[in-house]
Amino acid sequence: MRLRTSICVATLLLSSSLALAQAPAFSKTVQQFIRTQGARIVLTHVRVVDGTGAAPVEDQNVVIEAGKISSIEPGKDVQTSDGTTVLDLKGYTVLPGLVGMHNHLFYIVRPNLNANRRSEDPLLVPQMTFSAPRLYLAAGVTTMRTTGSVETYADLNLKKDIDAGKLPGPHIDVTGPYLEGSESYFIQMPHLKNADDARQTVEFWADRGVTSFKAYMNITRAELKAAIDAAHARGIKVTGHLCSVTYKEAAELGIDDLEHGFFVNTQLDSGKKPDVCSESAGDETIERMEASSPEGKDLINTLVQHHVAITTTLPVFEGDLGGGRPPVRQEALDAMTPQAREDFFLLRQRRTPAPTPKVDPKTVWKHEMDLEHAFVAAGGLLLSGPDPTGRADVLPGFGDQRGIELLVEGGFTPVEAIKIATLNGAVYLGREKQIGSVAKGKNADLVVVKGDPSKQISDIENVEIVFKDGVGYDSKKLLESVRGRYGQY
Ligand SMILES: [Zn+2]
Repeated sequence: MRLRTSICVATLLLSSSLALAQAPAFSKTVQQFIRTQGARIVLTHVRVVDGTGAAPVEDQNVVIEAGKISSIEPGKDVQTSDGTTVLDLKGYTVLPGLVGMHNHLFYIVRPNLNANRRSEDPLLVPQMTFSAPRLYLAAGVTTMRTTGSVETYADLNLKKDIDAGKLPGPHIDVTGPYLEGSESYFIQMPHLKNADDARQTVEFWADRGVTSFKAYMNITRAELKAAIDAAHARGIKVTGHLCSVTYKEAAELGIDDLEHGFFVNTQLDSGKKPDVCSESAGDETIERMEASSPEGKDLINTLVQHHVAITTTLPVFEGDLGGGRPPVRQEALDAMTPQAREDFFLLRQRRTPAPTPKVDPKTVWKHEMDLEHAFVAAGGLLLSGPDPTGRADVLPGFGDQRGIELLVEGGFTPVEAIKIATLNGAVYLGREKQIGSVAKGKNADLVVVKGDPSKQISDIENVEIVFKDGVGYDSKKLLESVRGRYGQY
């Protein structure tokens, strides 16, 4: 047994640097959150939503051994015995651990924010290295991409400490510092001087262990191309939240992924100049672009032909719809510092005094959903992440769940939405053989929720246990440990 296990570990470590099959020796900090651990764990009589988009299968037994799913079989009673832990999960659903593809480890503060929504420069993003990983894991996120970092060494060390069992949290794809152009309002990002600077920045951080990159709004085409080439030379993927470069241009330059769905494409913005971010930063393009228009069809074809994924981040845009969106979750408010809660309510009130928006949010939302559906129908790989930064109303973990709910509201079936938030992310990361679905032989990265999210998607919020590499974490205890802290550290 021991020998077989160690061979497994060696094979996995060779096959993927992100893989960690076996439970390491856990620190006291981590141990307090572990609810179930053992040589063999059997989840009996559970509904399986496997993450592939298939219909749910009722009454199954899922067996976990040595960090893996060793079998999935028709439900039957099993006796707890030496070396076998049994969890009777009638009424519960098991789904794959979420793969959060636009997840951050920081928070945005707006100094001296007032009721008129004004704040003073500079905008700052303090690290949330303590609270964010716990919130993610509590919500069922077992793998995440940081999608742009501000304290890259902290993120790299956090990943190392989580993998070593010293700190709780998901598996992390650490994205390097934002690759931003010379004009930027973000004081914590590198402001690239030219293409050579872009190449050097990518190489420097790749040498230090970063496993992905993200280009930002004011990068030039030459800088983006240099960054993509340098990253690809090392087998590393590049995504972008763009503005100065249009989606079509970025696809043709070889980018791997584009953030924020179709909201920030600038190709139809009036006065758009090459290499310069337009004033509307994409608002005009999404308002004008219908999926069935020639421009819409051409864009989707270009993206699919160039194998460019799209990351939908609906939660960070939901507030623009007004009408009491997003719904307030008491658990999310509980996680925040008093200051973060105050900011949340100040920003939420913005709908009343806000000036008439330049674009109609309902039209924009509809175009976004139509483009997402057309992209998926054309064979595009749609990923999901909440972008937990924007307005204090999108939090790590809670936002990941909300993203899935919004996909369903936008017309995807619950099992399709779950696939977008699980297996699709695994495919993008090249880890679909290890994670992303509930299947024999895969890592036991699983979420156990009460209820049936295939019928009622909000049941995805009822997380009971989160398994990561076969170790079951107590969602409520993780949340409790963050209470009143998100927004501070
Ligand atoms: Zn973001």
